Amino acid sequence: MSAYKNQQMIKDMGDNALPKVVFDVQKNDAEQLALKKRSGNLPSNIEYQRALAYVTAMCEIPREDFTQGQMERYIRALADIGDYGQAYELSGEATYKEIDDALRSGKCKCKDVTTTILENGRPKTVTHPNAFVKKQVFDLMKQAHVNLMCCNKCLKLYAA
Ligand SMILES: [Zn+2]
Repeated sequence: MSAYKNQQMIKDMGDNALPKVVFDVQKNDAEQLALKKRSGNLPSNIEYQRALAYVTAMCEIPREDFTQGQMERYIRALADIGDYGQAYELSGEATYKEIDDALRSGKCKCKDVTTTILENGRPKTVTHPNAFVKKQVFDLMKQAHVNLMCCNKCLKLYAA
């Protein structure tokens, strides 16, 4: 083997050490974009695939070797793939615990508000939902994006 080729090999090994993670994520994005064009997937699915690729790649590296930036990104990626429990364990962020709890709990007992309006001279009951969609989160159990609802009255979070 020539000295040049040998050097190339060493260089390749160095290049494959960590930037490969970034490279794979970009490749994954391109694949997801192509898929989106065909199927009209939600943009959040791209984020999910990207996060999953990152978490998978980072599993190869011992956690104590993570830089602070990698750890922060890893925690965000865990949340994006629905592992809010682990995201909370690693970060101590109350928001992650709230969402983790919400994914396991049902709707609160608050009743929808009803008002009576006049429609064509006749009274009609209109129901106003007491909850609003706070954000979309990935539910690990359902393997799907679900709406994280927030009750207007008691502020309880739950998945729907
Ligand atoms: Zn409520």
